Amino acid sequence: MPYEFTIQVSPEIAATPEKLKRHIARKNGIPFNEITHVQIVKRSIDARQKAIKINLKVAVYVNEEYVDETITLPEYPEVSNAPEIAIIGAGPAGLFAALRCVELGYKPIVLERGKDVQARRRDLKAINRDHIVNENSNYCFGEGGAGTYSDGKLYTRSKKRGDVNRILKLLVGFGATSKIMVDAHPHIGTNKLPAIIAAIREKIIAHGGKVLFETKVVDFKIQDGAVNGVVLEGGDTLEVKNVILATGHSARDIFELLYRKEIEIEAKAFALGVRVEHSQQLIDQIQYKCEDRGPYLPPSPYSIVKQVGGRGMYSFCMCPGGVIAPCATSPGEVVTNGWSPSKRDQPTSNSGIVVELRLEDFKEFAAYGPLAGMHFQKQIEQTAFKVGGETQRVPAQRLVDMTQGKISTNLPETSYKPGLTSSDMGTVFPKFIHKTLQEGFKMFDQRMRGYLTNEAVVHAPESRTSSPVRIPRDYKTLEHTQIKGLYPCGEGAGYAGGIISAAIDGEKCIEACIANFDN
Ligand SMILES: Cc1cc2nc3c(=O)[nH]c(=O)nc-3n(C[C@H](O)[C@H](O)[C@H](O)COP(=O)(O)OP(=O)(O)OC[C@H]3O[C@@H](n4cnc5c(N)ncnc54)[C@H](O)[C@@H]3O)c2cc1C
Repeated sequence: MPYEFTIQVSPEIAATPEKLKRHIARKNGIPFNEITHVQIVKRSIDARQKAIKINLKVAVYVNEEYVDETITLPEYPEVSNAPEIAIIGAGPAGLFAALRCVELGYKPIVLERGKDVQARRRDLKAINRDHIVNENSNYCFGEGGAGTYSDGKLYTRSKKRGDVNRILKLLVGFGATSKIMVDAHPHIGTNKLPAIIAAIREKIIAHGGKVLFETKVVDFKIQDGAVNGVVLEGGDTLEVKNVILATGHSARDIFELLYRKEIEIEAKAFALGVRVEHSQQLIDQIQYKCEDRGPYLPPSPYSIVKQVGGRGMYSFCMCPGGVIAPCATSPGEVVTNGWSPSKRDQPTSNSGIVVELRLEDFKEFAAYGPLAGMHFQKQIEQTAFKVGGETQRVPAQRLVDMTQGKISTNLPETSYKPGLTSSDMGTVFPKFIHKTLQEGFKMFDQRMRGYLTNEAVVHAPESRTSSPVRIPRDYKTLEHTQIKGLYPCGEGAGYAGGIISAAIDGEKCIEACIANFDN
């Protein structure tokens, strides 16, 4: 049995196996030569003091052989002739639902409006370079969903949602680095995610499941309060009685369809704001309290929450060493989000900085019923499109100028490829959001001295933080409260907020569907 210790060491010792072994030997009176292996079990950074420390939980093998327990995938049965379950959407929720479906001996039929990960790249190029938004294949739609070309941060604020480790192990089994099992804030990176997603799809198909791309669901067949089919664009119908609906928070046509068919949905509060870009070096200097972070520390993230005039304003999906991406899903709108490569080696950092919204903020859109928040969100994205110049150029302003209500006379180049249009953020947002952002950024500077600089640039809007609609489900059976056989799932239904929680929800929904299975 290895000895387990929790230790605090310098970044250099933590990053150098030989030095770490020596440190452990000396501190614990273990002869150096008798230590056969040191396994890091958990790692986190403590940057509260000037001298930064790394917290490590280590398993130390003394005079004992270390056997690397490679993570293996579950045994998946052959399901080609098993009962079928339709899964709409191949994001993390849909894909993990499909995998678990195979594992439990049922046949998933995944219906995805977008293209496979490889083909999707061409459409991302078209948004970045030619400002063309393909409504079915973009940063949010296509194989892997919004999770594929995302940052791949794998932490969830709510551990209560389910077994995070199970999802992390599956990701490692499909090719992710095993470091995600160790780091307190695990991260995969945009460059690594596509191969992992493709491996999951291949596994599903190899065991008899189906994954159909460019297959958009446009209607549901419902009889006597139960699903008995889904209608595909083009007119074909797939006859199924069990459907996992995992279409994500950007599938506005699905929300509109449910509303039209009088299938119960609810407005949901969400958050909205800007994406701000700083130099990574500045963020490192503020967070690590040093000129240069040196070779042993990773590019620093940050996380801030403030109450501004009674409203929450907070950082969201911060991407150290990352890039701002154009994430619109329809022509005529501008949306930003961020990603970073696995090494987080870009010179810039970016973060969504968003203001908490409440249902009463959508009053002006009350005529849209439960879609009020969605229309509020859409109007801001369309305004940004107009202000930006009716391309994918984004309205942008230097940070200090923004807090002072001054249009920036010039803008530095940022990582956002389609380009910037110098604008007053007051023309993009309603006054209460603009004011909150102006005040809040000043308060952020009190927490992170130097953050409020005119070298930083805000890009608008960051508007797809979570779903503006909830599709209600029974808390026990997870079935829609009104329609039998329909399982609202993942972020779009309002039950997840990120890759891990969406994957967990996907597994939960398919388990509930199978427990309740109706032929
Ligand atoms: C640029 C970017 C960076 C992000 N970074 C992170 C991060 O670092 N960490 C993190 O945890 N989260 C991140 N997110 C959020 C994360 O990607 C989502 O929370 C997650 O993907 C939600 O999973 P989901 O399966 O519920 O929905 P989605 O991933 O949105 O998937 C829904 C799928 O349904 C498909 N679909 C929609 N309508 C239909 C239809 N009618 N018929 C058929 N298919 C349909 C879509 O094409 C899509 O593939 C990021 C998102 C973006 C855009």
